[in-house]
Amino acid sequence: MVQISVSDLKSRPGSEIEFKTQAKWPYLITAAARIPILAPVRVSGRITNTGRLLVVKGQVATTLELTCDRCLEKFRYSAVVPLEEEYAAASQMLAGTGEDGEADEVRPLIGDFINLQPAVEEALILALPMKWLCRENCQGLCPRCGQNLNAGPCQCDDRTVDPRLAILAELLRQREGEN
Ligand SMILES: [Zn+2]
Ligand SMILES: [Zn+2]
Repeated sequence: MVQISVSDLKSRPGSEIEFKTQAKWPYLITAAARIPILAPVRVSGRITNTGRLLVVKGQVATTLELTCDRCLEKFRYSAVVPLEEEYAAASQMLAGTGEDGEADEVRPLIGDFINLQPAVEEALILALPMKWLCRENCQGLCPRCGQNLNAGPCQCDDRTVDPRLAILAELLRQREGEN
């Protein structure tokens, strides 16, 4: 649970506090995956009372265990992502409009506390890379024998083709058949 006490800040418009905290939880749950979290999730930043909102600006840092899309090996991924959130006391929840004209999501306070956990999880998920690669030039697995080619070449002969090329070759064959 990533909770920050704002009991003082809440009653003092114009003031701000700095915070630094960390929490441990086992997994980051996304729609597609359950990602192990290998290190404490460190959250730091400052919270400003603007009068009607408590604005959080900070950073989230941790280490995740991702699985490479090409070679299927697990690897450590250091995530350092910005955190920007707005909180309002539940009694004064408002659907505000940000400077960019987009509706901002204003989250509720829970008593004298901000629970940053949902925002932290969202920030981490949004910042996940599109492609999960253990290294930029990961060689992947041999499509024929399954060997991890990062460990060295396999014994398959050189005529083994890339699966994408195999699909292309198959399409060309089909087209020839039609003519
Ligand atoms: Zn890989
Ligand atoms: Zn092979």
